Amino acid sequence: MHGFNDESIHALGQAVLKYAEDRLKLDPVPLDGPRSEEELDRVAGQTITPDGIGGLAALKLFEDDLAPACISTDHPRYLSFIPCAPTEASAMFDLVVGASSIYGGSWLEGAGAVYAENQALRWIADLAGFPEGAGGVFVPGGTIGNLSALVAARETARARAKLEERTGPGTRPWRVAATQAAHSSIDSACQVMDAEMVGVPVDDAWRLTGDRLREVLLRHGPETFFAVVATSGTTNFGIIDDLASVAEVCREFGLWFHVDGAYGGAGLAAPSVRDRYRGIELADSFIVDPHKWLFAPFDCCALLYREPAFARAAHTQKASYLDVLTSAPDWNPTDYAIGLTRRARGLPFWFSLATHGTKAYTDAIERTLAVARFAAEEIGRRDYVEVVREPDLSVVVFRRLGWTPEQYQEWSDRLLADEFAFVVPTSHDGETLTRFAVVNPNTSEDDIRAILDTMA
Ligand SMILES: *Cc1c(COP(=O)(O)O)cnc(C)c1O
Repeated sequence: MHGFNDESIHALGQAVLKYAEDRLKLDPVPLDGPRSEEELDRVAGQTITPDGIGGLAALKLFEDDLAPACISTDHPRYLSFIPCAPTEASAMFDLVVGASSIYGGSWLEGAGAVYAENQALRWIADLAGFPEGAGGVFVPGGTIGNLSALVAARETARARAKLEERTGPGTRPWRVAATQAAHSSIDSACQVMDAEMVGVPVDDAWRLTGDRLREVLLRHGPETFFAVVATSGTTNFGIIDDLASVAEVCREFGLWFHVDGAYGGAGLAAPSVRDRYRGIELADSFIVDPHKWLFAPFDCCALLYREPAFARAAHTQKASYLDVLTSAPDWNPTDYAIGLTRRARGLPFWFSLATHGTKAYTDAIERTLAVARFAAEEIGRRDYVEVVREPDLSVVVFRRLGWTPEQYQEWSDRLLADEFAFVVPTSHDGETLTRFAVVNPNTSEDDIRAILDTMA
């Protein structure tokens, strides 16, 4: 290995920084798109050799052949799934985090980083109206965030009520209530935990409500559940469940109330929609992905607990070689989720928040909401498309009248092949539809019009 003083490492450093700077300055970024493995074999081929091909050559190969084979999630017409549009500040700081060799798992090793991350978490906790003692950790994504919260919920239920004793032998009191619109990661978490997910039917507005929840709990026996998951912004439609009435029923039955805001939690910072989240302040745990609608790079999910002690009891790993950490009264992020070694992945988000201030975040989120509202109106003005449900947040699901599933797919493939836009079909109740997920403040009304024009 060469030291940084080495001439060639210096040149490589310059080249890497220049590449990063140029990429961040691109406006617009190219959409790019996938290539087949054969094509990549042809242009890139075997890149790992006994002697190495050299950093400059590897960088050139990435720039010329590999990067163009990756879709740019921050392209303003990337409106599929949930895009990721990091601020320049957060993306640049990702480089700094990478260069800094910080262990973000413990206070002993990463105090400065953990201190800053905790301020970013506190901003989110305040938006949600969580109490003073709330806290948590940045994990890789909503999937791990949801799983970690549910593990804490189950441990808490075990410790609190000795559920096994109450329900007798042979029963498995490990149910989670959630709607069918809950994200697939809830089902996945239940699989990992060998828990059972029980679906609660939604109301006429397609939301989970306290009444619907109570019915299901009573039918199965409330003592057989350890958690209820509500969603504050479903992935497909952006629907916010009736959090206040769900919270009330959770209280009534002593159940852990988890709110999955991986996508939609960011709307807490937007006054125009804030009242839709009423009741979130009563959650026992809450997640939001800054890598979705809070302009941070992958991979970053904020996981918050009302009472972190419950999570600590569930997640702290114990071993003789860790005693020096676990016996200290410090805040060790690793104690609040699955995983031990940890990148200080909240720092790019923190840096951008510190740089721009929270008002800029409110403005940017409001801007995306305005574009989504425009999209819904514009769809209403065109006779060949139709909004399926009025958007709660920044996702707009709509149908192209008369199209078959194949036509949606061909249209979507063509937009990507032309590097014009990335908008994929979705479905609801067996019907093929499509959707715009607007989380990029650079997505404009013109982009929306231009994409709708291609469907005429
Ligand atoms: C995206 C999403 C998740 C999963 O988050 P990842 O960061 O992709 O793991 C969970 N819940 C909801 C509501 C989501 O939109």
